[in-house]
Amino acid sequence: MIFTWFRDRRRRRLLASPFPVEWERTIAENVRAWHWLDDDDRERLQRFVLVFVAEKYWEGCNGLEMTDEVRVTIAANAGLLVLGFGPFYFERLQTILVYPDRYVVKSQQHLAGGVVSESRDVRLGEAWTRGPVVLAWKDVLEGGQVHDDGRNVVLHEFAHLLDMLFGDLADGVPYLESEHERVTWSEVTDRAYRNLVRETRQGRRTLLDSYGAKSEAEFFAVATECFFERPRNMERELPDLYAVLCGFYRQRPGDWSPR
Ligand SMILES: [Zn+2]
Repeated sequence: MIFTWFRDRRRRRLLASPFPVEWERTIAENVRAWHWLDDDDRERLQRFVLVFVAEKYWEGCNGLEMTDEVRVTIAANAGLLVLGFGPFYFERLQTILVYPDRYVVKSQQHLAGGVVSESRDVRLGEAWTRGPVVLAWKDVLEGGQVHDDGRNVVLHEFAHLLDMLFGDLADGVPYLESEHERVTWSEVTDRAYRNLVRETRQGRRTLLDSYGAKSEAEFFAVATECFFERPRNMERELPDLYAVLCGFYRQRPGDWSPR
């Protein structure tokens, strides 16, 4: 209770401070989606970044120097996911570890005990149920700067965090408010996932990256990347999936327009 009071007071102070000009420049350079957001969403994103940067513990690994550019770029990408949610700062997440490039770790079991790893040995990111998010800075930059390729490691890993908020398990089913939403979600995503698995087995490329065929959890993370990076393609090619993601994220990125 007292902790919450101090936290809320600190947040109010943070949110009362002006958004640093240098940070806005960083977002404009490193997060392409910024150029499509309207003024309200830009303000929401800035508020998210102010709190998120201040509240998380950030650590550079393998010689990466932790700078405001790294923190702000990651925060702004992650904030895109929750623009429709109201104040939400991934409270359970405390630590973000950033490597300069893809990093090598000993092999870990996929999805065991709530861990989701992105490759067997060389990784570009991972997210833990009650642990850190780990990211490769080179992929973070590419993910944010190139907006239309459907790949964004920050969106991917933070989608896993949203997935794991509900029941601690990454199973591709995030928290949905109503029974109706849950039923529709399950019908639409099961069908789209099975289609992706079939197309991938047959060696065909689709709008969704074949990595999503690994599991329902990866499907949700890959679909999220596509939803934010190629929303108009998704709206056209996979309208049902687009619609349920609009419902969950409470956003319509297909309506974003360049400004
Ligand atoms: Zn993943």
